[in-house]
Amino acid sequence: MPSMLDAVVVGSGPNGLTAAVELARRGMSVAVYEARERIGGGAATEELTLPGFRHDTCSAVHPLGIGSPAFATMPLDRHGLEWVHHELPLAHPWADGTAAVLAPTVAETAVSLGARDAGAYRRLVAPFTGHWDTLAADFLRTQWLGVPRAPLRWARFMAVAGLPVAALVRRFRDGKARALLAGLAGHVIAPPTSLASGGVALMFALAAHERGWPIARGGSQAISDALAGWLREMGGTVHTGFTVKRLDELPPARAYVFDTAPRDLARIAGLGDAYRGFRHGPGVFKIDYALSGPVPWTAPEARRAGTVHIGPTYPEIRDALRRATGGRPPRVPLLLTAQPTLADASRAPEGKHTFWAYGHVPHGWTGDATEVIERQIERFAPGFRDLVLARATAGPPEMAAKNANYVGGDIGCGAFDGLQTAIRPKLARVPYTTAHPAVFLCSSATPPGGGVHGMCGHHAARHVWRRLRTAAR
Ligand SMILES: Cc1cc2nc3c(=O)[nH]c(=O)nc-3n(C[C@H](O)[C@H](O)[C@H](O)COP(=O)(O)OP(=O)(O)OC[C@H]3O[C@@H](n4cnc5c(N)ncnc54)[C@H](O)[C@@H]3O)c2cc1C
Repeated sequence: MPSMLDAVVVGSGPNGLTAAVELARRGMSVAVYEARERIGGGAATEELTLPGFRHDTCSAVHPLGIGSPAFATMPLDRHGLEWVHHELPLAHPWADGTAAVLAPTVAETAVSLGARDAGAYRRLVAPFTGHWDTLAADFLRTQWLGVPRAPLRWARFMAVAGLPVAALVRRFRDGKARALLAGLAGHVIAPPTSLASGGVALMFALAAHERGWPIARGGSQAISDALAGWLREMGGTVHTGFTVKRLDELPPARAYVFDTAPRDLARIAGLGDAYRGFRHGPGVFKIDYALSGPVPWTAPEARRAGTVHIGPTYPEIRDALRRATGGRPPRVPLLLTAQPTLADASRAPEGKHTFWAYGHVPHGWTGDATEVIERQIERFAPGFRDLVLARATAGPPEMAAKNANYVGGDIGCGAFDGLQTAIRPKLARVPYTTAHPAVFLCSSATPPGGGVHGMCGHHAARHVWRRLRTAAR
């Protein structure tokens, strides 16, 4: 290792690892320091229940991973990453045993929404299909830094995407289309009236039609392992089991890049209350199941889908999100579930399955949501409980204990509502830089926010590189 590194990255989540490889590929010496014994942050896989059952501890399904402009330029397949697709990206079952689906094709999706809304769905997505590369690059960035790659399409997209999903659903006449979009927007855990929640729903829908909603063969850990494998090939190093508490514990470096929560960065780097105004959002309550068979969904479409959203209706989803953001315990939670073993049998013993489900709960909530979650699943998959061999539960305290970035169980590392959807972690021309010239932030507390896409790390690395290049001159 050189006596002075170019960059030290604190945290090995997808953004930390992306920042590290982006710097290493420009010829810089890089070392990553991770608090846990295992790398990957929110993209990791562990045997949480029984031997042989490999569960994605956080992220499971990766529309923004396969669609990431940053990952698209990396040789991650050479380092073991293989995307696996289910027959259907997503099903949203209805109480009568039917389901809305997000299918690979716009046509199949539209048909599932019913005759009165099929045309409206087609009109919503049609102007943007076939343009994923520019759209993703223009959406997954800090909006005021640089001009969009396709400015006219971008302006047209933002005229729709800037709306709250509560406004977007008014284009539809029946329940299924409204619920499908609200469920998609629910990924950012904000009320449907939140700015840009319509854009989130639209991006997830477009991702299904353009790239799919794949899982990583073997588990999400494969994404992190591929990034770390490439980093090591380029000479970078990764150190685990090292919780960084002070800057002077780290080796001398020209830049320190933090894949951490903003206030943790401020504490470690001595930046005082630089991020006092930063808000963390609601938490999640997650259950990982080892099952003796596949989930017995009543709706046949749900038995073919990688992700199943259980709302079911728009008013129920709206109320569930309002309860979580308003600090009230869950009653009928919106459930986001994933069934990876339907497409990747390697994650469980033969004939057995893993199943992943979470619902939204208030920030820091210490209750147990197992009963309300399983009651909801049973409504749409009667007999589900009889298949449970083991379960592992984690509410906000357990989430935060596993990963310091999930403050109060907030898996987005910062509320995604109001102005904080775009202005995060605080108002600044370049949100990745800090008051300390050698200290940078690259976690999902920065634009474009949560998800396994590496784009926060990608943008942060560009600013680190520019500053180091200027300093060298
Ligand atoms: C239950 C759940 C389900 C999710 N589902 C999906 C999904 O299906 N698809 C998707 O795209 N996204 C999903 N996400 C979100 C996704 O996991 C995160 O948005 C993403 O991991 C954020 O990446 P990051 O690099 O910013 O931070 P993280 O992945 O949180 O990584 C931060 C890393 O920094 C380390 N760290 C923090 N502080 C220190 C310190 N002081 N010293 C050393 N190390 C430190 C942490 O231990 C951690 O490893 C989910 C998240 C959760 C929790």
